Amino acid sequence: MYAFRPIKDLLNVMFSPTCVACGEALVGDERLLCLECLSHIPYTNFATMTDNPLEKLLEDTIPHVTATALMYFEKGEVSQSIIHGIKYYGNLRLAKLFGRQLGESILESHRFDDLDMIIPVPLHPLRWMKRGFNQSREISLSISDKLGIPIENHLIARTHYTTSQTRKSHHERSKNVSGAFKPHNLKQLKGKHVLLVDDVITTGSTVKACYSALTQAEGVRVSVASLAFAG
Ligand SMILES: [Zn+2]
Repeated sequence: MYAFRPIKDLLNVMFSPTCVACGEALVGDERLLCLECLSHIPYTNFATMTDNPLEKLLEDTIPHVTATALMYFEKGEVSQSIIHGIKYYGNLRLAKLFGRQLGESILESHRFDDLDMIIPVPLHPLRWMKRGFNQSREISLSISDKLGIPIENHLIARTHYTTSQTRKSHHERSKNVSGAFKPHNLKQLKGKHVLLVDDVITTGSTVKACYSALTQAEGVRVSVASLAFAG
């Protein structure tokens, strides 16, 4: 038995899970993030907060919107590792874990009580093919599970292949994405209360463009949930 230990030790080093934020080896019950990094997640508490900063950002386009984001997006910090881990490294277990937390906060807040469906912000088909998944849909899966509300993937589509938003100004982002979405089934949307889900909201221009598409159907109400808020 002793002869196999070096191999076992080597395998442990190669495959032992590490924290997605700081890279330290995980110990005990730690999963995905170490306890130290978990304790540094900047939660917003927006779920229970009326007139929160995200609602204020969106209200010029979406009057009386109910909106929440689970955490603040902070460059170089734990929340960036979480968002980038999902989006660029395809760590869908992160989407599941924090999607569940977002879903729980929505459920417990009782501010989103009469939702009919969840619509993840769609990716353009070419972007989806490149990435292999839609991060907003992955986050939505856990929210849907928590709230017991279905996900409707095909009621709006992204018809413009927009370039990355990350280096653009507020005005450029808004111009880049406006008119990028089209509704697919106005009849199915009519009179519904939709929870629109995104991974990160910065200027709100993507969410506002989705709102314009959704409200082409009569009587649609839109609430908003995002994993992170970079405003
Ligand atoms: Zn860590």
